[in-house]
Amino acid sequence: MSKIVICGSGGFIAGHLVGSLIKSGISPQKIRAIDIKPIEQWFQRWRGVEEHVADLSEREACLTLTEGAESIYNLAADMGGMGFIENNKTACMLSVLINTHLLMAANHNKVPHYFYASSACVYAADRQTETDVQPLKESYAYPAQPEDGYGWEKLFSERMCRHFHEDFKMDVRVARFHNVYGTHGTWTGGREKAPAAICRKIAEAKLSGRHDISIWGDGEQTRSFTFIDDCLEGIKLICKHNIPEPINLGSSEMVSINGLVDIVEEIAGIKCRRVYDLLAPKGVRGRNSDNSLIKQYTSWEPSTPLKDGMEKTYRWIYDQVKNQ
Ligand code: NAD
Repeated sequence: MSKIVICGSGGFIAGHLVGSLIKSGISPQKIRAIDIKPIEQWFQRWRGVEEHVADLSEREACLTLTEGAESIYNLAADMGGMGFIENNKTACMLSVLINTHLLMAANHNKVPHYFYASSACVYAADRQTETDVQPLKESYAYPAQPEDGYGWEKLFSERMCRHFHEDFKMDVRVARFHNVYGTHGTWTGGREKAPAAICRKIAEAKLSGRHDISIWGDGEQTRSFTFIDDCLEGIKLICKHNIPEPINLGSSEMVSINGLVDIVEEIAGIKCRRVYDLLAPKGVRGRNSDNSLIKQYTSWEPSTPLKDGMEKTYRWIYDQVKNQ
């Protein structure tokens, strides 16, 4: 039986991806799930799936684990939120080995389909200097001025995918994810992103009765956040359509960090005193997704309202904090 290889499946998005493939009717026996983390640390596991703990930055592992594959989804990367990527640029850059060795292995093993998870961090910094930022069109990745470390690795890996397509006719898809959030992801430990961090802080405030929370920056920086269900639907549609170029996969509902805190406070039913940490990593001043291209190709764009997605995410993180 040919295999669908899901890389990084102990993590947030790939863990959900395995589940959504099974829910769509694909047999678990057809799925090969791989992550470097010990299996007991995987966020989600699915009965019947072939599981491997392996370091996909190593060429041999990639060659062996892509044998007999009909498609590869590369969502493995050493990454995290701004706090992680600003302080671990080497680790972020070294993810280049994962994508490079996976592409080489895919070509060697004649795997016809390849999906790569890129990021909005590829976009040029000077397009993201204002809070009321113009939504980022795919072409704004050039002239190149991406996020140092993490963004450069993503941009380089995108191009590597492009050249494997051009030179070896590999059927490649590249999606630029914009801030994906949801349940069963990192919510503590230093790699969590803003939505999970804010949910955790407010859940801790609610449980402890101490209502002071720290906010990174002045809270006026803007972003759009993409609920995991939309991310999964987008991956499915991007793979189904013939899209030969990197494409945004993100919500276009822009909000400030203060606005996001308002939403979570309302869900939690508390008000917090916000302490602004102006020296903390903040990232770009504003970022939003332009969805013209994905609508053109698929007649679809992410549409889960931020409030609805955050409600589910907060409830899950609240339970994690409580159980801890
Ligand atoms: P995650 O950290 O939850 O998952 C990534 C997984 O890759 C982790 O479980 C990690 O252990 C695994 N991994 C790291 N190095 C590995 C290696 N050498 N071999 C095998 N596995 C390895 O992150 P996520 O949020 O699920 O992100 C998935 C992908 O989407 C990543 O490529 C990430 O850069 C990209 N992305 C995510 C977001 C987001 O908001 N979550 C935004 C843009 C891009």
